Amino acid sequence: MKIVRAGSLIDGTGAPPVRDAAVLIRDGRIEAVTTASPRASWPADAEVIDGSRLTLLPGLIDCHDHLAFHGYELVRRWGLDEPQSTRHLRTAQVASQILASGYTAVRDAGGLDAGFRLAIQEGLITGPRLVLALAIISPTGGIGDRISPSGHVSSFLHDPSLPPSVTNGLEGVRTTVRTMVRAGADVIKCATTGGASSRAGHGPKDSAFSLDEMKALVEEAHALGRRVMCHAVGGPGLRLAIEAGVDSVEHGCYLDDDRELIPMMAERGTFFVPTLTVYEYHRESPAPHVRERARALRSHHLESVGRALAAGVKVVAGTDAGGHGHPNNALELEHLVAAGMTPQVGGSRSRRRRPVTGHPRASGRATHQAGDQGWGGRDRTRLGLPLRAVLSLPTVRAARDTPHRRSAQG
Ligand SMILES: [Zn+2]
Repeated sequence: MKIVRAGSLIDGTGAPPVRDAAVLIRDGRIEAVTTASPRASWPADAEVIDGSRLTLLPGLIDCHDHLAFHGYELVRRWGLDEPQSTRHLRTAQVASQILASGYTAVRDAGGLDAGFRLAIQEGLITGPRLVLALAIISPTGGIGDRISPSGHVSSFLHDPSLPPSVTNGLEGVRTTVRTMVRAGADVIKCATTGGASSRAGHGPKDSAFSLDEMKALVEEAHALGRRVMCHAVGGPGLRLAIEAGVDSVEHGCYLDDDRELIPMMAERGTFFVPTLTVYEYHRESPAPHVRERARALRSHHLESVGRALAAGVKVVAGTDAGGHGHPNNALELEHLVAAGMTPQVGGSRSRRRRPVTGHPRASGRATHQAGDQGWGGRDRTRLGLPLRAVLSLPTVRAARDTPHRRSAQG
């Protein structure tokens, strides 16, 4: 038996924090949670983990991260500036730091191959449980199409662990989905618009994929038991993604442009992963077109989050970290609270302001366990009885704070 003593316990149900609690865990399951915990009554052979000066909470989830990305520069994105082994070890370090910061599950939105999931499962490295997309499926010219500003493609970098993700037509998208699943994808990532950091000429409101292509992609993914997370920022491509039945809209900055979209998402149960953190960086990007796009969409983005919360859309946390370095994933929680979520512990007490299911950390800042349903994982991490024990005693404030002023192109 393990006994975790907690100075403060957040149980993730919406109840207020409990002081001086103890959680009894047997065979990986929570057997009891108590505040009356005289040591004498604990089994003599129990292993006591002393977190009496820390806050204990259910593991946090980042629903949109890129653990294997380490910069937006072309040489970084194409893996030209260091040996692959060095990059992999760098990624492993990020995985370990994210776990230490309290995140026990991460949905990787592209770039991380299935070998990392295996390595964590085998105990070769430490890291959060992973839900992997492997690569971003897009048509020619979309955000998954790795092309330099001069028009060159990186055809010399084929890696079978990250299958080719540029495809066109109904047959193409179906085959590509199957190929991703064959290579180990837990969730299918696609893109129906450009973004802030995509190449000049393919911006946030520019479309990628037709409705028929997206319907085929979603149908194929669902047939294989995979959810679809779709990068969709604005314009016709955003509407098309929702109509095609994707399971989550990533970014969704211009959802406020079309009054029908948020009600559609609420009705269909489509999750919204705003990824507010990444746009903080894009607004300071050295690339003028990226800066301009990120500044133009900011007020729409905040408005979209506010309206989605009011409409009852399930809004969950994702940092889109990687290109801008790997800051503390909990930054997203602060941004979500600033955008209208309540910092209060979970549940559904608030009407207008939907609470985040999180906790005030020792720092006094709001944090959040977001997206325990929305991330595409097959099990849940909510603290309760008798759920599997996936608890977190965050001991590291930031996974890694790296400079964010990086060139953004492509
Ligand atoms: Zn992303």
